[in-house]
Parts: sequence; C-alpha cells; structure tokens
Amino acid sequence: MTNDVNIDFNVNAISNQMYEFITDLYPLCRSITGDGLRKTLHLIQNHIPLTINEVQSGTQVFDWTVPKEWNIRDAYIKNSKEEKIIDFQKSNLHVLNYSVPIHQKISLTDLKAHLFTLPDRPDWVPYRTSYYKENWGFCLSHNQLLELKDEEYEVYIDSSLEEGHLTYGEYYIKGEKEEEVLFSCHSCHPSLANDNLSGIALATFLAKHLGEISPSYSYRFIFIPGTIGSITWLALNEAHVDKIKHGLVLTCLGDPGKSHYKKSRRGNAEIDKAVIHVLQRSNQDYEIQEFSPYGYDERQFCSPGFNLPVGCFMRSPHGTYPQYHTSADNLELVQPQYLADSFSKILSILEIIENNKKYLNQNSKCEPQLGKRGLYSAIGGLTDTKKTEMAMLWILNFSDGNYTLLDIAEKSGLDFSLIKKTAETLLQFNLLKESFN
Ligand code: ZN
Repeated sequence: MTNDVNIDFNVNAISNQMYEFITDLYPLCRSITGDGLRKTLHLIQNHIPLTINEVQSGTQVFDWTVPKEWNIRDAYIKNSKEEKIIDFQKSNLHVLNYSVPIHQKISLTDLKAHLFTLPDRPDWVPYRTSYYKENWGFCLSHNQLLELKDEEYEVYIDSSLEEGHLTYGEYYIKGEKEEEVLFSCHSCHPSLANDNLSGIALATFLAKHLGEISPSYSYRFIFIPGTIGSITWLALNEAHVDKIKHGLVLTCLGDPGKSHYKKSRRGNAEIDKAVIHVLQRSNQDYEIQEFSPYGYDERQFCSPGFNLPVGCFMRSPHGTYPQYHTSADNLELVQPQYLADSFSKILSILEIIENNKKYLNQNSKCEPQLGKRGLYSAIGGLTDTKKTEMAMLWILNFSDGNYTLLDIAEKSGLDFSLIKKTAETLLQFNLLKESFN
C-alpha cells in the first residue's frame, strides 16, 4: 500500500490560507504562558481538533519549574505633556515580555536603564524577554530613544505575574501503525511573523492535510512555548517517547532565505537522510548543519537522556537574518510563495518517510528478464524509460532486505519518487516482496 502524502494537493492555495492565518495571529501578545498563547491555540482549533492542556505553575519538570502565568492588558510611557510616546496598543513588542507591573514617575536617566533599542537598526523595535528574572522594560526604536527629552516620564505596565498555568496544544493523528512522527513548533513569540508564526501556520495546515488522509505512521503535532514547553511536554510524556521514530522542529519557514536543515544529534537518522535527499534534489541552494546544543526545541528532544531522531527544518536560521527578533520580522518578510516552498518540501520528506521500506528480490539469481514480463511497457508512462530501467536494476540488485528504498535512491543517484514508483511496479509483477526484518 502506498501513502501518497502529495495526492491532489494544491500547495499554492494552502499557502494563501497559511499567510492569512499568520495575519490573524500576528497582533496577539503571546508569551510562554498566558491568554495570548491560549487565544493562539484556540485559533488553531478553527483548523484542527487540537487538545489544549494546562500545566500548573510550580510543577516540577526535570530540572525546571513551570513559571508563574503572565498576562498583560496595557502599557505605555507618557511624557511630561501626558502624551503617550510608547504605546503597547500599537505594538506588543514595545513591552519587555514578562514585565512585572509598574506605575510610577521616573527621570530619563532612570528610565533608560529599562529601555531596549537597536542602535544598528535605528528604525526597528527589538523583541526582548525576561522570563526567569523579574524585571520591567520597554522596547523602542533607537530613533525614538534619541528624541527623548530630559524630563519626567510616567511609566505604566498593567500586567500580572501570578500562579496559573502553562498552556500547550497537541493533536494526534492515528495512522496504520503506532510508531509516530513528531512535529513541534514554538508558539510563544508575540508579533513576529517568521520566527514562530510561520512554523505554527505550517504545522497547522500540514496537520489538517494529514488528518484528511490515512497515513501509515501516526502523527503528533505539539504547539508549545519554547524551551519550557518542550521540557514540560517531555516530562509529562516520557513514558511514550519511544514511539517517536522521526521528528522535525518547524520554525522560520516563510522568509526568502534558502532552506536549512539542522541534523538530529544522531546525525544519520532516517529523518536526516530524508531531508538531505529532498534538499539535494530541490534544484535550489540549501544548507545542512550538524547538530549543536543551541537553537530551538531540538535541544530538548536531542538531550542525551532522550536523543530522539528530531531535526530542525527552517529557511533562515535564528540570528542569521537582520530582521530576527525585531519588528521587521513582519508580514512583509514572510510571503506565501516561501511558505508554499517549505510546505512542499515537507510533503516530499514525508513521502520518503511514509514509503521507505525494504524489499526482497524474488528472482535474485541473475537478473530477471524484464522484457518478457512486459515491464518496459508497464513503466512506459513514466517520464524517462532509461532512468526507470536503471531504477529497476538498482532496486532488484539491492533488495536483499538490507537496504531501504532511500538507500537505493542514494546509491543510484535517482529520485526517491522514481524509486518508489518503480518498486510498486516490481511488486505488482511479483518480483519483489516486502521485507519486515
Ligand atoms: Zn525566537
């Protein structure tokens, strides 16, 4: 049985829906806990039947503790004329994420200790957080900072940091087998389109697509706050993680940069080979990175006690594009065609994962005579007869139960999809049998 994850699928139509979804999510003030994150998960529920889980503040998760819940309603800085010069209502990036409440008059000198700017990019507002150290602050453009006069200011942050919950979303799609493919994306960044929202949108619509077909693997999608979310999820699900056979962290998938893949800690997991095969054959520039213990939630999935086969799929990696963690990571940076390209690459990766089987040649002493079986005409409809003949020879020779179809694609230099289609034909002609060793 084949699992055509690509069948009848219009990636361009879906890319516009992903972009619209990013536009809807963009204004929400998300954080690692709180109502912005909750609202985001509720909006995902409009597309897929996501389960929303709440984990109490103070819960011990390995070496970490689930933090207090942060919520914010309003924030501003007023000058001596009572004019709002910084206004949270205009952009949620203006507040240091996780700021504790404050309402006081303050001199410019004292205020400056709580202001964050980007002198190199004087028009952009930085994104800053202070999750694990209680602080308050504002982020603004460097040009705005330079305009501030030496006068008294009123600072106001109407936030709360209290016992509550960490919220995360999970969607499980039951496939033919219990073994799972895990997709994870962080969902804790406020108005940042590429870092965060592109991954959320892509995961949502990929999950929707997989929920509508009957995949071979079971799929699990988790929408979690960065770092503490994956640590929490792993702590609560430790007993089941051995079911995860392949996994990808999805992030930064909508910008114009080339595709990047960061390998799992194992370095030669099937997911690593599948992604590399797809990128090598994309006719586009790409980059493969070795695993490193810095980045997104693959850090936790690939911590030595778990060492799961989970890589990170992205376009421009964190910290390498100038708009990263600034107000310029916006709805202009992310574009539907880049989301579409990322989406179709992931479908190609899943086509491999879903169909990467081993077979046994049923006529292994010398080559079977292909012509007398009508095999040349059987595959005549395929693009290139010569290539297909080569595919048959490669598959028959290496189908001794030791090599997967992806191994054979790599050895032969042929595309996985051609190898897969040709193997299906050989199977119909009883020249192959699936090997379950
Ligand atoms: Zn980030």
